This record gives sequence, C-alpha cells and structure tokens, in this order.
Amino acid sequence: MLDLKRNSKYQLIEATGKRSRKSSIYTPKQTEDFKISRSKFADFLICPRCFYLDRVVGLDAPGTPGWALNEATDILYKKEFDICRKNQTPHRLFEQYGLNHFVPFQHPEIDKWRDSMHHGLSARFGNTNIMLFGGVDDVWINKETNKLIVVDYKSQSSEREITTNNYLNGIFKQGYKMQMDFYVYLLREMGFDVHPDAYFVVCNGDRTVADFNGLMKFDEYLIPYEWNTEWIHNEVINMIDCMNSNSLPESNKSCKNCAYAAQRAIKEL
Ligand code: SF4
Repeated sequence: MLDLKRNSKYQLIEATGKRSRKSSIYTPKQTEDFKISRSKFADFLICPRCFYLDRVVGLDAPGTPGWALNEATDILYKKEFDICRKNQTPHRLFEQYGLNHFVPFQHPEIDKWRDSMHHGLSARFGNTNIMLFGGVDDVWINKETNKLIVVDYKSQSSEREITTNNYLNGIFKQGYKMQMDFYVYLLREMGFDVHPDAYFVVCNGDRTVADFNGLMKFDEYLIPYEWNTEWIHNEVINMIDCMNSNSLPESNKSCKNCAYAAQRAIKEL
C-alpha cells in the first residue's frame, strides 16, 4: 500500500515516519491519563509489536484510504434511525424481525457516543490512567426491559446466503464480534444495563442483477450476536503491561508487511 504524506492543503511533504502529536505517544510507566481507542486495542490483539511501535515508540504507519461506499450506507442508516429516535417509533426492519419493542435510544450524549474521532463511549480502566473509548454506530433500547442494545451497521456485497450462523461464523467476523464486545464492555462500565444480544444491521449489495443503471439494490438483515465481555479485562491488562515495558514485543509471524520489510532490507543491503 502506497501512502504519500500531504499537508492540510493536500501538498506533498516529507514523510518522517514519526508521529508529531505528543499526546498520542505513551511513555512507559507514565501517570498522566492516556486514551486508547477500540481500533488501537484491536491492533494490540493482532500484533503487540506494531501496537507498541505506534503508541509507545511513536512511529507513523502508512494509512489506508477510507471506505466511501460503506460510509455512505452508514450515513443513510443513521438518518433513518434518527427519525425513529426522534419519534420514538420502531424502525421498519424491527417489525420484520418481531422486534417492535425496540426503538433507537434517546440520550443527550448519543451524538458524542457515535463520534469515533473525538468522543465515543468511554470509561476508565479500573483505577489506572488508561481511558478506553470507541465510537458506536447506534444504541437502541428494549422498551420491555429498559436494557440498551449495541448496534453496528455493516455493508457488504456477497452472493453467499446470509443467515445468523453464516454471518457470524465467517473467518473475518471474529473482529466484528470483538468490536461489539468492546462497545458492550464500555456501556456497562458507564453504568448501563445491556441487552444480551447486540445487533449487526447488514446491507448486502446485489451483484447478480443484469445491469447497473446507477443503482445498487441492497438486501437487509438484522443479525443478533450474543456478546461476551469476559475476555476483555485480561487483554487490557496485557496491553497495559506491553505499554509499560521497555522492550519490543514479538511480531505476528503471519504478517505480510513485516515479511516484506524484512525481505526488502536484505535486498537493499
Ligand atoms: S508483524 Fe510487523 S508489520 Fe505486521 S503488524 Fe506486527 S510489527 Fe506490524
């Protein structure tokens, strides 16, 4: 992946490979508060070494472009669910799934909870200086129990039949489930009661139609996921131990980026 460094006016500037914002770099054993996002925690779970190089050493890894089409469906869903939130009516998909006792949750902070860049759901980890946070797509409420429901919108285009089992057992869905677990963990740490199922709102672009004509048709599904937050506590402790260490952790042996970098270093000698 090529990623050229540009300034705010999109002019090319020299890439240093180092982060310049001090607040995003952790000093081992520091006592000041430090924020860790859901995505950085996910990075730690995939490769503690890359996480450490990023958050502690302060290296600026190449980025990837945004997902404009997925973002568009997220924005459109947000608009729909916000109308139901305002009117406190069930969304059109709820009836289809016998969930008319659900409505989008009204809360003064809901926009902050959904702002993954600046706020998100947030909780201090125990009595440490680590603040965990993550921007959730939506939160609904079960009106019969008053429990909150964590929601994530997902866009895809697959010819595979979509059932709850098929969807959740896909090889790349482990990360989706951990994402849900993390949001549930935060909401519970914030003092809310959470419904035992989180929901993926999945829209699947139909690639089997004969032509495009500037329109893509989506089928929609609500996929319940029975969350589990038990694993999170120990993994956060492992992450904090890693951050407080002065040595580089092991790399992920399956990572093609590291293998590429190693081969390249040999060839350039
Ligand atoms: S194996 Fe190397 S490149 Fe891959 S994630 Fe880990 S440190 Fe980063």
